[in-house]
Amino acid sequence: MQVLDESQRADLQHISLSLENSSPQQILLWAMETYRDKLTMGTAFGPEGCCLIDMIARLRDRVGVTPDIFNLDTGYQFAETLALREQMQKHYGLTIRFVRSEESVEEMEARFDGPIYGTDPDRCCFQRKVVPLSKAIAGFDAWVSAIRREQTPERARSPIIGPDARYKLVKINPLANWTKQQVWDYIHENGVPTNSLHDKGYPSIGCWPCTRQVALDEDERAGRWAGSDKRECGLHVGPDGEFDRPEREFSAVETAA
Ligand code: SF4
Repeated sequence: MQVLDESQRADLQHISLSLENSSPQQILLWAMETYRDKLTMGTAFGPEGCCLIDMIARLRDRVGVTPDIFNLDTGYQFAETLALREQMQKHYGLTIRFVRSEESVEEMEARFDGPIYGTDPDRCCFQRKVVPLSKAIAGFDAWVSAIRREQTPERARSPIIGPDARYKLVKINPLANWTKQQVWDYIHENGVPTNSLHDKGYPSIGCWPCTRQVALDEDERAGRWAGSDKRECGLHVGPDGEFDRPEREFSAVETAA
C-alpha cells in the first residue's frame, strides 16, 4: 500500500473537478486508461450498473483492457438478479465474478439462531457485503461504483473521483451527475438488459428480505430497508461511519495508488 501525499490528493481532486462536465463514457475511459487491469467494478445489476457494463463493453477494444467486474453474492439476492448476471455475461461476453462471505447464509443463520436481516441489518450487511467487498477489491488500485448524486442526500456530494478512505483505493463514480431519466434513456437507446423486477414495481433492488415494491409516488429507494432508518448497506460509508464526501475524501487519508 502506498500513501497518497497532499500533492497526489490535490491532483486527484483536480482531475475529479476537471471531469465534472464529462460524460460517464469519458470518465470510464479515463479510468480504464489510467488503471487498466488494476481497475474493478462492483455491481448489483441495478439500472445504473447495467449501463456501466454496457459502456465498458463498448470501450474495452479501444482501451485494450476489460476491467474486472464483480457481484457481491450475499446469498439473499433475488432469483431474477442472479438470472440477469447470466444474461449480462452472455450478452457482453464478460465474466462477472461472484464474491461471497466466507460464512454461508445457512451457517450464519445457524450461528444467530435465525436470520438477522430483520433484527440487525447493519451486522448482516457488514458480514455479507462490507467484508466481502474488502476481499473483492484486494489487489486493485481503483473501483467503479454506480452511485448517482440525486439518489439520496448522502450521495449528493460524492466526488466524480476520490480516495476511498475505508478501502484504501481510488473510487470512481462515472454516473454521479446523471439523472434517473438519463439512465433509462441510455438503457432504451442501447438495448441494455435490466432486471425483470423493475417492471413489477421494484425501481431499486437489493436483497429480497430488505426490498419491497414501491408505489408510483414514492422515492425510488423507498423500498430498501422500508420501515427503518437504514438507507445504505455500508459499502459507501467511510471509516468514521459517514457517507463519502469531498471534505473527507480529499483530506489526509491513506490510500493505495
Ligand atoms: S440487504 Fe438485507 S439481507 Fe442483504 S446483507 Fe443487508 S441486511 Fe442482509
